[in-house]
Parts: sequence; C-alpha cells; structure tokens
Amino acid sequence: MKALVMTGKQEMKMEERDIPTPKDNEVLIETAYAGICGTDDALFNGLPGSADAVPPIVLGHENSGVVKAVGKNVTEFKEGDRVSVDPNIYCGHCFYCHTGLFEECENLSAVGVTRDGGLEQYFTAPDTVVYRIPDAISLKAACSMEPISCGVHTMHIMENIQPHMSALIIGDGFMAKLFAQLLRAYGIRNITMTGRHDDLLAKEQKELKLTHVVNTTKEEIPGDYDIVIEAVGKPETQEAAVKHTNNGAQVFMFGVGEPGQTFSMNTYEIFKKQLTVKGSMINPNSFEDTIALLETGAVEVEPYQANTISLDQVEDVLNKTTPMTGKTVVAVNPNLK
Ligand SMILES: [Zn+2]
Ligand SMILES: [Zn+2]
Repeated sequence: MKALVMTGKQEMKMEERDIPTPKDNEVLIETAYAGICGTDDALFNGLPGSADAVPPIVLGHENSGVVKAVGKNVTEFKEGDRVSVDPNIYCGHCFYCHTGLFEECENLSAVGVTRDGGLEQYFTAPDTVVYRIPDAISLKAACSMEPISCGVHTMHIMENIQPHMSALIIGDGFMAKLFAQLLRAYGIRNITMTGRHDDLLAKEQKELKLTHVVNTTKEEIPGDYDIVIEAVGKPETQEAAVKHTNNGAQVFMFGVGEPGQTFSMNTYEIFKKQLTVKGSMINPNSFEDTIALLETGAVEVEPYQANTISLDQVEDVLNKTTPMTGKTVVAVNPNLK
C-alpha cells in the first residue's frame, strides 16, 4: 500500500508498505478521505499539535474510511462498516482522565499524531475511538468529523445557552463557518461574523444566515456580544474578542496562537462585566453529537471543504509550493462509498 510518511521536519516521502495487521482490540480501516488542518501544518513544521509527532509518522488525524478487518477482541465492527475515527486516545488512568477532564490527559496519544493516521491507504485504530456513520453522512463529509467535534466541545463547555443571546465569531475560516452552524443548532440566532473580504463575507452571510458580517479591514466590530468565539489565534483578534463583550459574556479562545504568545486585556472589565474567558482544546465525548448534527443536516460540511487533492499533492500543499486557501481534504480512495 501507499503511505505518505513524514520523515522529518518539512519532509515527506511516499513509501510502499505492507498493509498493517490490526492488534486484538484494533480495527483496520481502508482510508477514503483525510483532512488537512492547522495541526498538520504545525506538525509538518516541527511544532507540537495537541501532542508531539515524532517522525517517521503518517499524519492524518481527520479521516474516514471503510473497515477492512478487525482484531480478535473486536465485536462492535465488521468488514464493510463505514467509519470515522476520533483521533484522540485518552489513557484512562491519569488524574485528569479519572476526574473527567479527558482533554488534559497526561498521556494523550492520537491517530495521525503519535501513531499512523489517514495519509496512507490503510491504517489501524483502537476500536474505542472508531465510530460507525449513518448512510446519510458521506465519507467525504465524515473526514471532517474531528474538526466539527472540536467545535461541539466548545458548545459543550459553553454554559446556559439561551436563544436571546448574541454571538460574535471572529474569523471566517473553515472552523468559523462550522461555528456559525453549531451556534444555530444550539439555539443562537443572532450571529455576527468578521472577515477581511467583502465578497466572501456577503456569500457567507447568505449561506450561513448570519445577522451581520463585518469587514475588519474597513470597519470596527459593532457592539458587544454574549458569546464570543475567537477562531483566528492572533493577539489582536484575541484582544478584540475580550473587548466586544456584554456583561456576563463568555469568550472562547479556539484559535491556536504561538506558544508564548500574549495579548492585553482590561482586567477591570473582566471584574466589572464578570467575564468568562475559556480555552477550548480538542474534543472529548463529542463525536456522537457530531454524527447527529451531520445526519440531520444541522451542520453541513462538504460545501466548505474547498480543495480536494490526492495523496501525491499533500507535501506541496504543506510546504506551500501549492498554496491553498480554505479547507483541504485528501481523496485517498474516493471510490469507497
Ligand atoms: Zn484537525
Ligand atoms: Zn489520561
């Protein structure tokens, strides 16, 4: 089989490998699609994701496919099942796993980060992180279940969501578009999104039924909001996120900044407005809601998967020889249905 192996910093090699054999509690999956995201970009450039990737490793933590074989202890899956994998594997025995804060697991491992993922024709995963998907969800859509589930996690840690609340999404990238749909699905109707291009914002306003859109290259963000989702990760956008808040507002830092990055905030306002500023990392217990949202059409993802490429093109996209804007998915075997 073909495996795209990250062999070092900014280095990938297509290798011919044997199809892996699933261990007793593992599922062997034939990859249909794999998504590329900011985490892959970081890992390719030698930076950590939610965990460190040590080459040689096959990336591809966002993936979908069809079960090809199962280990001898696996009873939940059989050959032919259409599946997606929640890449994050929690150890189950550290302090944070024991107290329910799984995303802070001290021994986090992840498919496509610490063990081989979907950028190869076949990969294995423990049966505990494999999810069967309903017919209504295409395998192409299913390869974006991980990013959707990270947004669902933000919704899970958001408190006391009420229909009267207003929301501001800073950024209009792939995750921002998912957040617009997630907020609606959870009952928020008054949604403002910021971006930098009038034409894109006009399209997004129509498609995503946004109340307002703001081009921040030309205008200030108007007003204050009850929920703010920062989906860029730059100091200036993080500062804006905390600033544009109503009394009692909740601010979610979703965009990933550089380690060591700081921004300034008015600490008196945090006190006076009783603000909550929360980080949102990865996606514990969020795949079932993700399936429900995709199956019912409450969240649509295929219109926002901007680029579809082949396995051979991945390195050029990651090293920016072929720069791409918007979400990129890799059609490893698009013939799988
Ligand atoms: Zn990702
Ligand atoms: Zn743990």
